[in-house]
Amino acid sequence: MFIMMVISGLILQTSYHNQSLRFRISQIQSQCNILAAQVLLNDFMISNATDNLNTEIDQLANVLEGRIIIVDSEYRIIKDTYTIEQDKYMMSNDVHDIMLGKTPNSTKIMNQYVEIMVPILDSSTVTSTIEPSTSSTRSNAEGTEEQKKAQGVIICMVSIRDLQETDTYMKAQGRTWYALFSFIALIFSLLLAFVLPRPLKVLNRKLQYVSEGHLDEPLEVEGNTEITDVIDTFNQILGKIQTLENSRQEFVSNVSHELKTPITSMKVLADSLLVQEDVPAEMYREFMTDIADEIDRENKIITDLLTLVRLDKQALNLNIEAVKINELLELLLKRIRPIAAKRNIEVVFESVREVVAEIDEVKLSLAFTNLIENAVKYNVDGGWVQVTLDADHKFFYVKIADSGVGIPEDCQEQVFERFYRVDKARSRETGGNGLGLSITRNAILLHKGAIKLYSKPGEGTTFTVRIPLIYIS
Ligand code: ADP
Repeated sequence: MFIMMVISGLILQTSYHNQSLRFRISQIQSQCNILAAQVLLNDFMISNATDNLNTEIDQLANVLEGRIIIVDSEYRIIKDTYTIEQDKYMMSNDVHDIMLGKTPNSTKIMNQYVEIMVPILDSSTVTSTIEPSTSSTRSNAEGTEEQKKAQGVIICMVSIRDLQETDTYMKAQGRTWYALFSFIALIFSLLLAFVLPRPLKVLNRKLQYVSEGHLDEPLEVEGNTEITDVIDTFNQILGKIQTLENSRQEFVSNVSHELKTPITSMKVLADSLLVQEDVPAEMYREFMTDIADEIDRENKIITDLLTLVRLDKQALNLNIEAVKINELLELLLKRIRPIAAKRNIEVVFESVREVVAEIDEVKLSLAFTNLIENAVKYNVDGGWVQVTLDADHKFFYVKIADSGVGIPEDCQEQVFERFYRVDKARSRETGGNGLGLSITRNAILLHKGAIKLYSKPGEGTTFTVRIPLIYIS
């Protein structure tokens, strides 16, 4: 910036100097031309005694702060305002060329003054032909250059010291401004160098602190809008990481708790057998049956957990094929009906149309089985379960409605969370571990489908599942 400022300053100064010099020269030239006309008009060349004109020439030389010399056609100096060369002869090449009309005028810029020469021309005299025409019929405009011989030459030498003084003054002014601007630029750069990076340094320090593991403390850094925007976004990311971390911790603690419960029961059962002596065989059998149940329970939790993990991992490994959904649901219901029959629950299947869809049969069977099993598990004795299948040109819809205990409204969002159970005791009785609906939802989401639930406590629950007929990866 500073270099550009210096360069533009120099260009400005030079062009100003050239412009004022050009203006001064053209002024002097026009004054010399006027003088040349007056000299001719007053017949000054012959008489040289026109006092008025003499005085005017002296005055003009005074005004211009210079010297005026008039040379006649014989190269004799008939007027020198300095009188030093009066009546002497001037035989310089420039004067000669102007006299012969070879050059229209001459301007020389010396160190401290300019020398301007203009011819005194009488428009009637044409004396020499520089390039004579080769054909008498050709006009002047076509090639002949006729030159007028001058009646004399006016030489005007004018000082340009004032222009140089202005130049020097401007340079001095320029230097002062450069110094001032440089100082301001320096202060400004120092401010930028020290003030701007400060919030960034603070931010970096705090980020390092967060990277050491303090994810729960939001960043607070004061600075310009851009920095506070970055910090806001970072805090949002931090919030999401924290939520994930919390749910991970909650999941780990739930898993530990769920896995520990059957082990604790087994330990209690085993200990109570061990502390007693002469335990009757029936009691052994009864306790061992309970221990076997707890082992089954433990096994189910581990199997479900593995299914969940596999569903998360195998998002890209779906085994998609065209499956007749009516047949699939019929088969699932056939397996469940004997369990339902034990509690006198009627299981009805209603198919509005035949549906063939591109699905992963194993994973979606798991999802539907969970929903239908729940409809039986959380039903009342002598109740009913109705499974309906319908489709349009894009999706197929499966509705599983039951006449069971229902789900309170404030729990409806959470039932899809891992290990969430509305009534822990009842769920435990029926062998539930709170993982079924998580597995179901994951399997449906893998098929780009959706699941919704409508329920009224005491009246029943309806789950509706929507799956695309054609799988788009
Ligand atoms: P669980 O293994 O305990 O059944 P799920 O994830 O399948 O776990 O279900 C979570 C909870 O949602 C259940 O504990 C139960 O309280 C409730 N629930 C699920 N389906 C139904 C239903 N059809 N009717 C009433 N409650 C249900």
